[in-house]
Formats: sequence, structure tokens, C-alpha cells
Amino acid sequence: MKNLVFLSATLFFTLLSFSQKKEKKTTKMITDSVAWKKDHYVVDRDSAYADPRIGLKKLMGGNKRFVEGKTIKPRQDMNVVKKLEDGQEPFATIVGCSDSRVPNEMIFDQGLGDLFIIRTAGQVSAAASYGSMEFATLKLKTKLIVVLGHTECGAVAAAVERPENVPGHIVTLINEIKPAVAKCSHLPGNQVNNAVRQNVIDQVNNLRDLEPILHKKYVDGEILIVGAVYDIHTGKVEFLEETLINLPQPKKDDEK
Ligand SMILES: [Zn+2]
Repeated sequence: MKNLVFLSATLFFTLLSFSQKKEKKTTKMITDSVAWKKDHYVVDRDSAYADPRIGLKKLMGGNKRFVEGKTIKPRQDMNVVKKLEDGQEPFATIVGCSDSRVPNEMIFDQGLGDLFIIRTAGQVSAAASYGSMEFATLKLKTKLIVVLGHTECGAVAAAVERPENVPGHIVTLINEIKPAVAKCSHLPGNQVNNAVRQNVIDQVNNLRDLEPILHKKYVDGEILIVGAVYDIHTGKVEFLEETLINLPQPKKDDEK
């Protein structure tokens, strides 16, 4: 009897490990196929760093993988730590909210050295944030800036609710977001999420106009500045159409 139990247990674990191996192999085959890579925009980092339009697609592909539960968690091991010890070339700057539910590398399925990130509540920017963006643009030659808001943002909700006697410096955040709230107060639907979108659009326009560095680089087509909203219910990032149209094209060499 003892032997029989032992035999059945061995058989069970052998079958289990076989089915796990098979599952692993199937997943690998899918994510290795050319069609899957194209659809999920798994491209080499260098082209994304050189061309912000490719960088944008790389972020979109990474978020698609995240939403579908097919993350590849690229460049997240000690080999990459060693590789990056002499410097970084992040292919995108993300100006996002501090909210703990929006970890940028996770939602875009990127790794070490990929994203230069500035996070404040409501992604409200002031001098130090602007300086960080300019540093990434000038020194690190990062050509893509994404302003990333998110649904149900607490900072935006506070600007909608306008509580009295706000303590400390929190009032600064609220005051910066108030104009976006006012602009969309007439719109139907969710007041906070409408304001989240408007806040991102306003922040994108603000960065496009920011002197003395970002404005010139943007109008010359050397960098892209776009906006997006992360949905905390679905994990999906929506790149806002309003910020993707009429983008300045990079100048050709003979136009420079
Ligand atoms: Zn937030």
C-alpha cells in the first residue's frame, strides 16, 4: 500500500512538471514569434532612443503586454546593472503622478536605464521638475517626454472638491490643477476624470512652451512631448489624441 501511494505521488508530480514545462514552452513560442513581437512592439532599445516616435510605440507595446498579462520584464537583471554602470541613455522621460498604483516601469514593461522619471502628486511641475526634464533632454539626449496622468487622481480630486484650510504645501498642488478643473466644469460625465485629461493636456502645452530649452527643441522637431492617462481600473494607458496631432516634424539636415 505504501508503495502504491509513493508510486501515485511520483506519477502525479511527473505529470505536473511535464504540463508546467509544456506551458512554459508554449508561452515562449508565442512571445518569440515575429508577429507577436511586431504586435507588441518589442524593438531594440537603440532605435527607440534615437527616434522618439519609435520610443512612443515601444511604450504602447509595453503597456499592451502589461494589460494582456504577457510582460517580458526586459533588462531587469544584474547583467544590465553592470552594463549601465558607466552611464544611462533612457529613451523616454515620464512626468507622472506619485500615486503608488502607477509604477512606470511596470505598466510600460520596461527595465533598468529605460525611463527617466519625475513624479509629483498630480504631476504638478515646478522649477526642480523642469530642471530634471531639461537635464534629460540636454545631457542624456532623451527625445521623448510623456506627461502621464491617471484616473481617480487624488490631487485632481482635491482640486475638484476644493476643501478649506488645506494644510502645508498641499495647497500648491491644488492651485496648479484648479484651472484645468474650471475648463471642463461644463462637461458631462466624471468630473475628476475629465479634469485629469484636461490637466494632462494643459501640462503638455505648458512644457511645449517652456523656455529656454524645451520650447525650441519641440518646435524644431527634435523632441516629442505628448500626454497620456493611465486607467487604474484596467491598467491601460491611453495616449491622448489631442496631444498626438500636428506634431512638428524633425528638420532634415539641409534645413538645419
Ligand atoms: Zn495622482
